[in-house]
Parts: sequence; C-alpha cells; structure tokens
Amino acid sequence: MIEFSDRLKALPPYLFVEIDKAKQEAIGQGRDVINLGVGDPDQRTPQSIIDALKKAAEDVNNHHYPFDAGVPQLRTEIAQWFKNRFGVELDPSTELHPLIGSKEGIAHLPLGIINPGNKVVLTDPAYPAYQAAVSFAGGKIQYLPLKAGNNWLPRIQDIEGIKNAKAIFVCYPNNPTSATADKKFYEDLVAVCKTKGIIIVSDLAYSEVYYDGIKPPSILEVEGAKDIAIEFHSFSKTYCMTGWRLGWACGNPTLITALAKVKSNCDSGVFNAIQYAGIAALNMDPRDIEDMRSEYQSRREALINGLRSIGWKIDSPKATFYVWAKIPSKFSGSTSLTTSNSMECAKTFLDQADIIVTPGVGFGKAGEGYVRMALTIPTERIHQAVERLKKVIG
Ligand SMILES: *Cc1c(COP(=O)(O)O)cnc(C)c1O
Repeated sequence: MIEFSDRLKALPPYLFVEIDKAKQEAIGQGRDVINLGVGDPDQRTPQSIIDALKKAAEDVNNHHYPFDAGVPQLRTEIAQWFKNRFGVELDPSTELHPLIGSKEGIAHLPLGIINPGNKVVLTDPAYPAYQAAVSFAGGKIQYLPLKAGNNWLPRIQDIEGIKNAKAIFVCYPNNPTSATADKKFYEDLVAVCKTKGIIIVSDLAYSEVYYDGIKPPSILEVEGAKDIAIEFHSFSKTYCMTGWRLGWACGNPTLITALAKVKSNCDSGVFNAIQYAGIAALNMDPRDIEDMRSEYQSRREALINGLRSIGWKIDSPKATFYVWAKIPSKFSGSTSLTTSNSMECAKTFLDQADIIVTPGVGFGKAGEGYVRMALTIPTERIHQAVERLKKVIG
C-alpha cells in the first residue's frame, strides 16, 4: 500500500472542499457564476512582455540550462528597478536571486535555514504557502493572531514576548486582509528582531498594487534590515504574469546564498527567455502600470460603494486587489460544529446568488468571521454581483 509521507499528512485539511464541490456543481449546471474568489489578474500580460518572450525563445542560446544565478542583465535590471522604486542599493551578484515565482522561493527558503524543531512565527491569517513551507522543513509554527483593531499588523510587544524563534514571515500589503505597513512598522520590527536574533522573511508580492498614490515601502529601506531580512518579489501581480513563474528574492547575502543552494539542488533556474521577458516588464512604460492600478481602483470603488449602498459596511483597501470584509451579521450567529460562519456565508452567497467569495477561515483561525473578495473581474460584473447580493443580505 502506498502511503503519503508524514510531512504531507501533517498538512492541514483543505478547508475549501465543500465550497469547491458546490462551485463545480454550479458551473456544471450552467449557472452564471461570478467568481470573486480568484487571486489571479484577469487581464492579459502586456504585449511588450509577450514580444520579448517570443524573440528570446527563438534564440538557441536560451535553449540550454539557465545559469543558476540568473541572466546577469536581469539581475542588474532588478537592482536598478529596486533603487528607483525604494532607494535601496542591491548588489546584483550577492543580494538578489531570480525565482520561478516567489512562491517557489518561499517554499525553498526554510529548507536552507530551518532545522527540524526550530520555531517559526507566522501571522494568522496568512497566505497558506508559508505554513506548508515551514512544515516541510520540520519547523514548529507559532501563530501570531492578527486583529482588525491593530490594522491586521502583529504587535511588536507580542514579538518581544516570543522565545527562541528562528524566523518570522510578514506580508504587507497583505493577502488576505489587504492591510498595509508603513516604514515605522518595519523599523520597529527590524529593531525587535535584531535584538532577538529572528530572521525576517518579507513577502512583497503586492508592492505595485496600491491605491491613491500611496506606495508601499520595502523592509529593506530600514537601515540595517539587510543584516537579518530577505524579501520576496513577484512579477505575477504587477505585470499580470501569474502563469509565467517569475519573481526574485533580495536582501541579506547569507539568506540569499542559503536559498540559492537549496534551489541549485532542486531546480536549475528560470527559463532564460522568461528572464528576458522579465527585463521587458521592468522596462515597461510606468503609465501602463498606472492604467492597471486605475482599473483596480475603479473596481474597488464599484465594489465598496455598491456593498455599502446595500448596507454592508466595508473598509476600502489601500493596496492589493482584495477586499477583506466582516461577514454580514446574519451570518455571525453560531452555526453547527462542522462548519464556520465564514464558510456558511460563502456557501450561502454561492447557493443563493451564484457568487464565489473566499471564507476567511481558510487563511487561519483568526480569519474566521471574514470573507475575501478579489477585484479580478470587470466592473460590470462587480455591479451585477452587488445587485445579486442585495437580495441575500439586504
Ligand atoms: C500571489 C502571491 C504570491 C505568489 O506569487 P508568485 O510569484 O506567482 O509565486 C506570494 N505571496 C502572496 C501573498 C501572494 O498573494
């Protein structure tokens, strides 16, 4: 009998089974489902990036194993982009490394820095990949519950109270809560983690998906952050390139080396042609990225204003393409032991309005009582979704 490994068996149960089943059923019955559940941009990758890939794919030099450390020009262009965007200098040969999407790097890093039994601090709620990555490396997870009252940021005094942690993962702008962190938060975080010898892993996948012109900072802007921090960046959300698999890690050179060593034993780097496409992305006309932001901004207004108009009080996100909403009070009563309020809410939206949202509990216990809606559908569909929801919650 073939059995899964203990590490696979230790993964938490997949919470969305029931919702997924209901979703497939709805689609199978030909119902017009509006999907607010997907964290994947609906728009095409910009043409200049596609063209760069086509050209690079024709070049036989790109048909071989890529260099482990990436195409040198991509590394220098990332460093240049980083300097322009955050004012931070990165040494392209030691302080950054291209990745097959940032999730790949997140999954591999713990294998290079965590020993079995080491404590790793994760926020609750959080992007589920961190949990799997730490657990595959044998790390012991300590959850730090986040609260709306603290803007979904971990409290510095709580981190101060944690004993013997090896690393902490943070993600701002945040998936799923859409919370943002300012430079002061990062300064305090770096200070406390330095005192306690905790490695900081920062996930900045949404650095360019922001509103009202307020640009999210990088933790590496903090003086001395490079002594203890590594930051993950992604082309996926910024350039509508989720399917291409391209990202990078940057920061502390020892952490970068640890990640690079794991990677060189697992994969052989990113297809060179995709790295050249990445260079084209970094050199895109900034106005085109501004257009993407404006599009999300209109969708955000449509959803927030629409839901407020039907009596659902929701905070407007400052960044990311997610709206994190406290479930309407009619779903907040206690339900059966086998389900949760946010699951119940999502299930009702699907059953009664053919609308898919993500139950907050899927991102951790502290996400219970919330749902996540993604602005990855056109504005007219958002208007339709609001109309339908009016009947359910109105
Ligand atoms: C989408 C996402 C990523 C993964 O990005 P890839 O570069 O496509 O692997 C990482 N972190 C968070 C929080 C995300 O939402």
